[in-house]
Amino acid sequence: MATRGDSADEPAQAGDYDYQSDDVDRPGMVDDLAQLIDGDVRFDDYSRQLYATDASAYEMTPIGVVIPTSTADVAAVIEYCAEREIPVLPRGGGTSLAGQTVNEAVVLDFSKEMTDVLEMDPDARRARAQPGVKLGDLNRELAPHGLKFAPDPAWGDKSVLGGAIGNNSTGSHSLKYGKTDAYVEEVEVVLADGTVTTFGEVSLSDLRARADPDGDLEARFYAEVNRIVEEEADEVREQYPDLKRNVSGYNLDRLVDEAETGSVNLARLLAGSEGTLAVITAATVSLEPVPETKAIGLLTYDDLLDAMSDVAPILEHDPAAVEVMDDVLLDLARDTSEFADVVGMLPENTDSVLLVEFYADSDEAGRQKVADLIADRVPGDDAEADPSADAADRTDAPPRARAAMEAHDAETREKFWKMRKAGLPILLGRTSDAKHIAFIEDTAIPAENLPDYVADFQEILEDHDTFASYYAHAGPGVLHIRPLINTKTVEGIEQMESIADAATDLVVKYDGSVSGEHGDGRARTQWNRKLYGDRLWQAFRDLKTAVDPDWLLNPGNICGDMDMTENLRFDPDYEFDAGFDSVLEWDNENGMQGMVELCHGCGGCRGPQETTGGVMCPTYRASQEEITATRGRANLLRQAMSGDLDQEAADVEFMHEVLDLCIGCKGCSKDCPSEVDLAKLKAEVTHEHHQRHGSSLRDRLFANIDALNAVGSALAPLSNWLAKVPGARTVMEKTVGIASERSLPEFHRESLVDWFESRGGAQVSAAEADHRVLLFPDTYTTYNAPDAGKAAVRVLEAANVHVGIPDDVTGSGRPPFSKGFLDQAREQARTNVDALAPRVDDGWDVVVVEPSDAVMLQSDYRDLLDGDDVDAVAANTYGVMEYLDTFRLDEALATDAPAETLTYHGHCHQKSTRKDHHAVGVLRRAGYGVDPLDSGCCGMAGSFGYEAEHYSMSQAIGDVLFGQVDESDGDRLVAPGASCRTQLGDEYDEKPPTPVEALASALD
Ligand SMILES: Cc1cc2nc3c(=O)[nH]c(=O)nc-3n(C[C@H](O)[C@H](O)[C@H](O)COP(=O)(O)OP(=O)(O)OC[C@H]3O[C@@H](n4cnc5c(N)ncnc54)[C@H](O)[C@@H]3O)c2cc1C
Ligand code: SF4
Ligand code: SF4
Repeated sequence: MATRGDSADEPAQAGDYDYQSDDVDRPGMVDDLAQLIDGDVRFDDYSRQLYATDASAYEMTPIGVVIPTSTADVAAVIEYCAEREIPVLPRGGGTSLAGQTVNEAVVLDFSKEMTDVLEMDPDARRARAQPGVKLGDLNRELAPHGLKFAPDPAWGDKSVLGGAIGNNSTGSHSLKYGKTDAYVEEVEVVLADGTVTTFGEVSLSDLRARADPDGDLEARFYAEVNRIVEEEADEVREQYPDLKRNVSGYNLDRLVDEAETGSVNLARLLAGSEGTLAVITAATVSLEPVPETKAIGLLTYDDLLDAMSDVAPILEHDPAAVEVMDDVLLDLARDTSEFADVVGMLPENTDSVLLVEFYADSDEAGRQKVADLIADRVPGDDAEADPSADAADRTDAPPRARAAMEAHDAETREKFWKMRKAGLPILLGRTSDAKHIAFIEDTAIPAENLPDYVADFQEILEDHDTFASYYAHAGPGVLHIRPLINTKTVEGIEQMESIADAATDLVVKYDGSVSGEHGDGRARTQWNRKLYGDRLWQAFRDLKTAVDPDWLLNPGNICGDMDMTENLRFDPDYEFDAGFDSVLEWDNENGMQGMVELCHGCGGCRGPQETTGGVMCPTYRASQEEITATRGRANLLRQAMSGDLDQEAADVEFMHEVLDLCIGCKGCSKDCPSEVDLAKLKAEVTHEHHQRHGSSLRDRLFANIDALNAVGSALAPLSNWLAKVPGARTVMEKTVGIASERSLPEFHRESLVDWFESRGGAQVSAAEADHRVLLFPDTYTTYNAPDAGKAAVRVLEAANVHVGIPDDVTGSGRPPFSKGFLDQAREQARTNVDALAPRVDDGWDVVVVEPSDAVMLQSDYRDLLDGDDVDAVAANTYGVMEYLDTFRLDEALATDAPAETLTYHGHCHQKSTRKDHHAVGVLRRAGYGVDPLDSGCCGMAGSFGYEAEHYSMSQAIGDVLFGQVDESDGDRLVAPGASCRTQLGDEYDEKPPTPVEALASALD
């Protein structure tokens, strides 16, 4: 493998970017706090708006944001705020769905700096960590010890430990593991007055000894807990539903259960308290062994009620998880490119599926469990059931499933799970005003009551003239139900509250809870009184008052006077005005506005490369700053276009602070489960920005890189020599802002087109060829990397393809498109479509070597132009490896690849259009070993990495990739993208070849 330069020792840091706006609220308070703590204090408009939302339907602008670095910081902020009666809100990943992570308060964001695993004791199966550590990262550190933090909320790679405790989170495997409260042993907390203390297990006698209703906050807390244990136990037993999963209200059922053993654990009482009782600054948690293996049976049903009726008998098979997806969700999944293939494998007319997962000690045992399940639940399908299995493996219930699929290998299991876990965001892909909002989305019902509950719920929805999808954790009875509602209308708001009211009655009727997973927040607090009755409602309030007398910690949640219809993100007063007319084609409902309003805040774009993979969002991964995540950008864009920000999106400051660092990698357009396309939105806003404020010389130069490359090539080798003259790079940086650290691309005197002509054009005649291909002369391949183009010609001709290079096309338009010169990009697109479409009609295919140009023709042209000719060109354009793979042309090639493994880094634009896998298949068939990296963007992103002020961000993004390359055991790197090869070439001692060059070199 290529050797890495000196920088390998020092991880690159994203530079000192200004992530804040100029307008700062309460500057005096900012100064005070900044003197008190080491962390950042951010009360500017951007920061406040960034933290005004979470993954819920709510929006409230906080007072300000603090990013603490230590317990001392947290204590100082809380003490300062307590003295002035200012509310405080602790926050992790901000992935809560009920609105408990937005408030008019000072937000403490733990997810940036307080992220360490502090101690690990594998023998005792315990770990101690700061609250901001992501569960995925915690589990990655535990994995070598065969241990894990067992509760597995679906978004655990983006959400943090503090949030898991705050919400008492759990996941699909709660049947096995229960909720977070079962694993919290001890917490270090800061109380509402700034006192730092520790809560953990305490005997009832100690509890009484330390209780004092007139003492300090801690003593008052002990006193109130003791009172609840002594006076409210019967009421708690009477009112709390008998469920594995209930997170409504405070965790009093666990408290009174524990009290029977002679001690209680106050850390566990904090589980599910949603930041209202104390702020956690460290937590000790117990751990579970990672199961040896898993196996999945996916049962399909003709009807949702059949599936619901099947849950109880399935539970008798002792599964680790039983998850449901209904027809609404399956239909939506079928329409996404990511899940269409899995859904396509289900039998026709499948209405619902149950995903049943088993843990097992061996693969064989896992297979047997699935076989037993299928034999029991699918009529007539008992072929593989263990003949020796006793009757206990069969239930008495009539089988109701129609068919079954199995997953035993990790890849298929992961795909099934991914489809299930992305369920909620898929639903939220609607760009209409009506959205599937969260407000009764996680009711919990005993499994035996599910069929009746679902039938009654359907009636409620029909009565309210709407519909919803049912999915999630059927095993423990937690159904995610999100009715389609337009909260921009008064009727929609009334509809929402009325459904919630009726649903609460239903939940009470069926011994359930209004929240089995996501907590109370702004959506459910209002219903806790109905659920638990007046007496326990008062007990909640007394507990809160004892430890937080002025109600300063996340006030209102769980037992406050909350109205679920207030502070909604979209309400009847919401107004949208982008400030300009869009110039791109938007084929989704509500056009650009629909896309601007699409992000629902799930935080999927905050997942690390190591645990989440994919491309989205490289700038967040490099900086850990909310404003550099797709969510941050999308939120601010919507707020700028709806008047929440005192700025327009096309303003200079907004462009500079909010959109400038988006590298246009398109990762979000694929990896965001709702396919929020920030790159396209940025192109629109940048275009408008140019109209209003003009453009820089550098932007114009990069937009016209085609012409510059042609000149550079004509003047080579002089142009190359000039670029290497000592001091030339410094001059470039000072004059046009091109980073002096960067090497400039070399120009070739003989362009690809010159070479092609000089060899006499095509070597395979059209008459003899199997295919006819127009090799699109993209600018980089033509002038800077003709070897890649020559390799493409060589390989295509070896596969009996007639190749021509069109002379009536121009640059693809990618550079002006990504720089926001959309008129110019459209003009170039028009020229190319006019030139190519007639020949495509005539049976020619178009092949492009450079991935970003290929994707321009395949995808972005449809954003610029409308028409059948555009669609025809898009549909018949291929990347070179994609072409070989699609038509299996490589199978006819005689290859003799060296015995080596290629480490393959795909281009992010190809990943966004799901086309980067083609190269891997072709190279493998040619005889290479291939290690395809699950990598993101390389950080160069066209011109981005060349721009002086972006250099450090580019390097920090690249660093993630370099780490993956270093870990790969490949012998040699290959990468199709010009930018990626420049970035990798600058970091390693040689520039990697393109896959087509590797393939050409393997030709006999
Ligand atoms: C797509 C999607 C899927 C989800 N799937 C699941 C699931 O399977 N299971 C599940 O349980 N949840 C799920 N959730 C909800 C949410 O992700 C979890 O509840 C998660 O654990 C919240 O973690 P967070 O870091 O985002 O916390 P946040 O949302 O930031 O905070 C959650 C609560 O904890 C409090 N809090 C945060 N830090 C502290 C602290 N240091 N001290 C005291 N209180 C604190 C906050 O004030 C808030 O009330 C899902 C959400 C989404 C968007
Ligand atoms: S951009 Fe997509 S992934 Fe990120 S928060 Fe919004 S919806 Fe979720
Ligand atoms: S285009 Fe790339 S950098 Fe920009 S928001 Fe999307 S994922 Fe992030």
